[in-house]
Amino acid sequence: MKEIHVKTLMTEDVTCLSPEAPLQLVVKKMVEQRYSCIVINKNEVPIGIVTERDLVKVLNHRAGEIDLSLPVSGFMSSPIVRLNENQTLFDAMVISRAEKIRHIPVVNGDEYLVGLVTYSDLVNAHFHVVEIQSEMIEQAVAVRTGKLQQLNDELQALSMEDHLMEIGNRRAMEVDLGHTHDASIRYGNLYSVLLMDIDFFKRYNDYYGHQAGDDALKSVAETLKANIRGSDRLYRYGGEEILLVLPQTNAVQAEEAARKLVSSIAKSSISHEKSPYGFLSISCGGACVLNNEHLISNWKELIEQIDRNLYQAKNNGRNRSVVS
Ligand code: GH3
Ligand code: MG
Ligand code: MG
Repeated sequence: MKEIHVKTLMTEDVTCLSPEAPLQLVVKKMVEQRYSCIVINKNEVPIGIVTERDLVKVLNHRAGEIDLSLPVSGFMSSPIVRLNENQTLFDAMVISRAEKIRHIPVVNGDEYLVGLVTYSDLVNAHFHVVEIQSEMIEQAVAVRTGKLQQLNDELQALSMEDHLMEIGNRRAMEVDLGHTHDASIRYGNLYSVLLMDIDFFKRYNDYYGHQAGDDALKSVAETLKANIRGSDRLYRYGGEEILLVLPQTNAVQAEEAARKLVSSIAKSSISHEKSPYGFLSISCGGACVLNNEHLISNWKELIEQIDRNLYQAKNNGRNRSVVS
């Protein structure tokens, strides 16, 4: 099954305005001509976006004293999240979900605007692919079982979620980290990442059995989900290791979040006879990335540093966190 690229999904007909365009013109286009979003371009490079939400905000905020000559640069959403035309449908789905946005401008290698994709374009394309895959699987059942396995694996690869923990899977995590790191270098956004690992989990499996181990993994993921902010994103890093992306979070806030998560698992009081604590616990390593492309050039280096912090938390006695 070949990858679907953003350029085959996007609309090339995008409504654009310059940053100096007045509010009056935006209202005219969006209200009278029913455009759901307008991309703000400077020399053909997208620098902002105005959606219905932005328009409602500016009109509501300025009720009573609406200045229709207000330039769009004063109320557009900026900086923007954008996609490269060669990114895949999968990349686009992960980014759109992570950022909770419904309209994403598409640029080419020179950063020029070449199109726009909406969340519904992505969902439609995604379901279309899943449908085709399912049909092919049904046909393959009749033909060959070996082929069936291969198609089934491909269908699995389309998934963004880990089925046991019901959080993002490893592949989605890699797309999110890459995107978050690039945005931090481009716009100077800071972000933090935490890596959590269950303590003495091998002993837990050995003592309570693998099924109980799976139930514990589910329960840990549920507790973590209940104790993070809406903008934070959880992924299964592998085995019993879970990674959390915290956008716009500094080191002090990340440390606080790590302490809260470690303590939330301890408080959930899952018995663990073979741990010195008597209950299931996690250790957590974390780090914050300031706009610092010189020290950390990609997210893999960040993970290496976080891994060292996690190792230290384990060495210091587990059931604790180390964040730098
Ligand atoms: P530490 O405190 O140093 O982290 O000790 P640990 O025993 O947790 O470390 P280790 O990495 O050696 O063990 C991880 C265990 O997690 C081993 C593996 O069997 C178990 N595990 C990984 N994935 C799953 C899973 O999906 N289900 C279950 N039940 N166990 C899993
Ligand atoms: Mg581990
Ligand atoms: Mg472990």
